[in-house]
Amino acid sequence: MPEPNYAVELSPPDIEPYRSGNTGVEYVTTFDSGIAGPHVLVTALTHGNEICGAIALDLLFRAGLRPRQGKLTLAFDNVAAYRNFDPRVPVASRFVDEDFNRLWAPATLDGSRQSTELTRARTLRPIVEAADFLLDIHSMQYATAPLMLAGTRDKSVALARRVGIPELIMCDAGHAAGPRMRDYGGFDDPASSKTALLIESGQHWERRAAEVATDVMLRFLIAVGTLSRDDAQVLAGPDFDAHPRQRIIQVTEAITITSDNFEFAQDFRGLEVLSPKGTLIGRDSGREILTPYDECVLIMPSRRLAKGQTAVRLGRFVS
Ligand SMILES: [Zn+2]
Repeated sequence: MPEPNYAVELSPPDIEPYRSGNTGVEYVTTFDSGIAGPHVLVTALTHGNEICGAIALDLLFRAGLRPRQGKLTLAFDNVAAYRNFDPRVPVASRFVDEDFNRLWAPATLDGSRQSTELTRARTLRPIVEAADFLLDIHSMQYATAPLMLAGTRDKSVALARRVGIPELIMCDAGHAAGPRMRDYGGFDDPASSKTALLIESGQHWERRAAEVATDVMLRFLIAVGTLSRDDAQVLAGPDFDAHPRQRIIQVTEAITITSDNFEFAQDFRGLEVLSPKGTLIGRDSGREILTPYDECVLIMPSRRLAKGQTAVRLGRFVS
């Protein structure tokens, strides 16, 4: 399969000014309005090579925006991986030892296993637990339309609709390899009002991803009451005033790789709609993976085809 070679159009910002922060946790800063209101957390660099989120947070810091109510916490997550970012081999800095975004189960966090990412996740855990709302900013391997990942709870879909961008909202339960930060604790509990969203802003290194990340962040902060529209206007990009008709993709399953020999049948990039039912998606050590229904949407096919990891998620448009 030919590998697309995307130019690195974005420059990783210097986050050293944010190292000391004010929370006792490096690269985590909290602004407290002193007025009652929700504690809102925006995170970047959950994956160290996804630099659009760091750009959005850097812009927010430098604009000097402060919460109108409640608290606003800004966090750079996998800084150890980010430090390894090299524009000549930009995929190499996704993580140091393991995926930071597959560790968010109490048993994993409380367990005895050690890794660079587990240490950082354990340090950030109380920060995540303190948040009423979370926006985690990511980007994708292929240049496809941005996706808001709303997990499995109606409250997250409702918040995604209040944010209003991007056009596509995806409802999914994550990965067999382990839970994501956005699914942790109260975020995935229907009885809790805590709500999390994860934005896949576009291809990792395209300029457009930073624009999407910034506008989604601003619209999220307006939706939860942290910023006024006038406050946020100073950083507004091309999507700040957009009102697309939002569509929901319900994910029905994740295809988890079971062998050391998985290959896709075509050069899928994501958001292809395959018909009819029974269309070949790929082969896992020769075993055919077929679409389980008509008009099956392929979501974020992976270029890292390793055993135990998600190859692709399957879903259907439900609205
Ligand atoms: Zn990511």
